Amino acid sequence: MEKIGLTRFVVIDSNRGPILVDTVPLAYRERFWRRLDRQGLAPSRIAALILTHHHSDHTGMAASLLEINPMIRLIFHANEEQALSSGRNQPTVYTNQKVENFSKKANLQPTFPPLKRRPHDIVFEEAQSPILRDWGVEATLLHTPGHTSGSVCLFFDDGTLIAGDTFSNIPLNPFKTNPFPFVYEDMPALLRSWKWLLSKEPVTITPSHGRSLSVSKVEKALKNQETQSNLSQ
Ligand SMILES: [Zn+2]
Repeated sequence: MEKIGLTRFVVIDSNRGPILVDTVPLAYRERFWRRLDRQGLAPSRIAALILTHHHSDHTGMAASLLEINPMIRLIFHANEEQALSSGRNQPTVYTNQKVENFSKKANLQPTFPPLKRRPHDIVFEEAQSPILRDWGVEATLLHTPGHTSGSVCLFFDDGTLIAGDTFSNIPLNPFKTNPFPFVYEDMPALLRSWKWLLSKEPVTITPSHGRSLSVSKVEKALKNQETQSNLSQ
């Protein structure tokens, strides 16, 4: 797993060549190219790019990669198609007031080079897709709406969950949002996705931002959140 700034992208071996999961913000472009180079991951070798969701910190370098090697197949959930082609982060809710205050001051980059669906891209609509197995990858793609409507996770047969922004675990997180992401589109949907993921009994949960998470930390946060939602009803 590779990390540049706060964003992690993952490289998976497949029988058709390396598969990337997500990229990094456009602002990290030099570091991204250097890192790929150092890992022997020339864009010409990359077979596919899975996008966990459309946000600019994950998709920033996707269009540049496809420009260099148009054969790279994008893999994403159908619910992200419109947002990806718009090149704009869709409206979200801040997880708490601290995040909101910070985000407004930081003027975070809300756009990315648009990604239009091409005929050879793989866009799935089902709750779980076995498509990666055709590539010799022992993992299932899971549709986990909440952070965004088409967010996806990768669940490996060995119990490793590559979670995108469905969870977040930023070290010394000043906003105290862990294990929630900073923003979300639909909190009830996010909690349903969490429950579904926990029912699959992951061994490790690896979010895009921050360290791996324990299942017990997620269970605790889930319980707290549900108590709060019940109180506010
Ligand atoms: Zn995100």
